[in-house]
Amino acid sequence: MRKVLKALVDKRFAILAVSGATIYYVFTQYYISIWWLLLAGVISGLIFGKVFCRWVCPMGLIMEIMMSMNKDGKIKQMYQYHKLGCPIAWFSGWLNKFSLFKIKLNTDSCISCGACDKKCYIVAMEPVKYSLYKPKTLKPGDSYTCSKCLECVAVCPNGSLTYKV
Ligand code: SF4
Ligand code: SF4
Repeated sequence: MRKVLKALVDKRFAILAVSGATIYYVFTQYYISIWWLLLAGVISGLIFGKVFCRWVCPMGLIMEIMMSMNKDGKIKQMYQYHKLGCPIAWFSGWLNKFSLFKIKLNTDSCISCGACDKKCYIVAMEPVKYSLYKPKTLKPGDSYTCSKCLECVAVCPNGSLTYKV
């Protein structure tokens, strides 16, 4: 299972490119109501948390392409900012706290290497407040901002972090 998740995380951008382009094509070609997209975002949010932005969304794809071309980091800040106007991001981000699948830590096997925290952009922004493994800190996976990139889970050397029900 870990191997599958690692492979998915490695291919995340390709998955986003295919699903984002497909959604854009289908919705524009067949004039499907945007409400169906909102519904899909909420349902996926209930099950997986905020996966829509980084795994499915056509706008997310455009933002990631812009970010990859931008060197001074301004677009990186815009990536979070543009989501303020997106109801799918509001709902599914809020659902990170309640979703069926969650990022879970096995405290018995964790060796406190810190590799997970180094991968997480939420921890990077607020390292005192958030950590994936340190006690008495908030879990970034439950935060509104976590877009379920799952890089923290993929980098964990011994499977102490999992993404499961
Ligand atoms: S999935 Fe993990 S690394 Fe990615 S934002 Fe969420 S907590 Fe951070
Ligand atoms: S990467 Fe895994 S073992 Fe290392 S601190 Fe994080 S949860 Fe613990």
